[in-house]
Amino acid sequence: MKIVVTAGPTREPIDPVRFISNRSSGKMGYALAEAALAANHEVTLISGPVALSEPPGARIVRIVTSDELYEAVHENVRDCNVLVMCAAVSDYKPLTTLPQKMAKQRGEWALQLTTTRDILSSLPREDRSYLVVGFAAETHDLAASARKKLSEKNCDLMIANDVSGSDAGMESDDNEVTIFFPNGEEKRIPRARKNIIAREIMKIVFALHEKSLTKNL
Ligand code: C5P
Repeated sequence: MKIVVTAGPTREPIDPVRFISNRSSGKMGYALAEAALAANHEVTLISGPVALSEPPGARIVRIVTSDELYEAVHENVRDCNVLVMCAAVSDYKPLTTLPQKMAKQRGEWALQLTTTRDILSSLPREDRSYLVVGFAAETHDLAASARKKLSEKNCDLMIANDVSGSDAGMESDDNEVTIFFPNGEEKRIPRARKNIIAREIMKIVFALHEKSLTKNL
């Protein structure tokens, strides 16, 4: 199978030296890419700026901004079987990027932001030839938010993790997730190292892919 995994944060530039970003380390996405490679699949890893070594055997596409990620996903998704959208895409970006470093000024300064394009929502909704797996990092109302994103973003699976604490989730080597299925089912994977969680998630993705193949026969 051809699997595209996105991982890590995006950076939205304010000026040549400043940006808006988030705490994503990329560890979960890289672990998912490694799990897919270990199962002998062809992996394209579209990665934001992270401090991780490249998984041997993966084709790496490096991006920085949400716009670059948008283009990279659309370019690579066409002939894939599964898209795993694990990247923590910035929801906002500066309305304009200053060409030169902004000098410090007295008093307050308001930065005008605009929303980034939602990549999952921009994918075709009907007759897709690939499965789409989304991620939802939530600090509250985890199940309700994840279910909403599953349907609004037209995903085949939504994987939610609670990032309200500091002991699992963003930046950590551990995670615990709940997988939401479109038929209303959910499956919890208890706290474990991200590579163990990744293997469990990929098993579910492979099984879903098998099922989708037999459905289309
Ligand atoms: O940020 P949010 O919680 O909406 O992200 C949920 C899912 O949507 C993630 O899989 C993320 O990669 C994806 N996303 C996206 N485009 C955005 C923001 C998020 O595809 N602009």
